[in-house]
Amino acid sequence: MLIVMHHWATSKDVAQVKKTISSMGLKPVAIPGAARTAIGVIGNQGRVNDAPLRDIKAVMEIIHVTKPYKLVSRDFHPADTVVQLGKKVKVGGTSPFLVIAGPCAVESRKQLMKTARFLKKTGVPVLRGGAYKPRTSPHSFQGMREAGLVLLDEVRKETGLLVVTEVVSPEHVGIVAEHVDILQVGARNMQNFDLLTEVGRIKKPVILKRGLSATVEEWLGSAEYILLGGNPNVVLCERGIRTFETATRNTADLAIIPLVRGMSHLPVIFDPSHATGKRPLVAPMALASIVAGAQGAMIEIHPEPERALSDGPQSLHFKEFEKLRAKIRSLDGFVRKHLA
Ligand code: PEP
Ligand code: MN
Repeated sequence: MLIVMHHWATSKDVAQVKKTISSMGLKPVAIPGAARTAIGVIGNQGRVNDAPLRDIKAVMEIIHVTKPYKLVSRDFHPADTVVQLGKKVKVGGTSPFLVIAGPCAVESRKQLMKTARFLKKTGVPVLRGGAYKPRTSPHSFQGMREAGLVLLDEVRKETGLLVVTEVVSPEHVGIVAEHVDILQVGARNMQNFDLLTEVGRIKKPVILKRGLSATVEEWLGSAEYILLGGNPNVVLCERGIRTFETATRNTADLAIIPLVRGMSHLPVIFDPSHATGKRPLVAPMALASIVAGAQGAMIEIHPEPERALSDGPQSLHFKEFEKLRAKIRSLDGFVRKHLA
C-alpha cells in the first residue's frame, strides 16, 4: 500500500500517518518527493484495511499495490536509483554506461593480473571473475573457491580496480563480501531465497542476474527480498532465458530492458556473453543494449579464450574487447546527446 500526502502536508502530518501505520502492526517507509511525500507500507500479507488512514485530512490518496514486489517498483520510488560502487564508480540514473569485464572464472594469478592490467589500461573500472562456479556437470572446473577470492582481493588492492564475483551459498556471503567490492547472484541462484535474504543483510552492492527461465515478475520478486532485508544496492542483470531456440546459448529479449526500467527504479545492466554464448554476437548485442536503455554491460574476456577453463567460446580476446570498449564509449555519448 502506498499513501500519497497532499502537497501542503506538514512533517507532523507525515509523522501521524507513520504512527497510524505502526499501530496497525505494519512498517511505514517515507518516500520524500519533489512535490509531495508518499509513505509506503510493508509487512502486510494481503489487502490492508485502510480505514484508520482514510480519516486523516493530509492524506490525498491511498493506492493498494497488488504486485508481489513493492520496494523495487517505480510506484514506491519514482526516481532512478543510482548504486555507488566503491568510492568513485556509479551505475544507474544518468551515470556513464558501466563496463564490467573479466574472465568467466578466476584460473590463476597470472591470468587474473594480466586481465586486470589490461582493464586498467583500457579504462574499465570493474573486473569480474568467478571463484565459485556453479557448473552443469560436477566433472567441469568448479572454480578456485577461497583461493580465487584471495587472488581477487590481491588484484583489487594492487590495481585499484573494483572486483565482482558470484556467491553461491548463504554461508559464503560473509567471506565473499570481505574479499570483493560487489557480489553477484547468478542465474541458477536467482530464487535461492536464503541466499537473497543473506545478501540483503550486507550493504555491498549486489548484481542480481535473471534466472534461467524466470519471468520478469519472479526476477523483481527476488530483488525485493534483498531490498526488504535492508540492502538497497541492487543492480539487475539481464542475461537471456531458456527458450526452444538453441542457435544461441540463451534467448535475450532486449525489450525486457526498457520494460524493467519502466517497472523498477533499480539500474539494469546486460550480459551479452551469457545471452549469446557466441563470441561474434557479443559486440553487436552489447551495443544494442545501450540503445535499448541498459545502464551497463558485463562482458567476458580472457587472455587466451581457447584455453579458458569455462565459457571460452563466448569470451572476447583483448583486442576485440578494446574495439568494443571504444564503440561503447562513442555510442553511449551519442545516445546521451541525441536519444536520451
Ligand atoms: C557468470 O556470470 O559466469 C555466470 C555463471 O552467469 P549466469 O549466472 O548468468 O549463467
Ligand atoms: Mn561465464
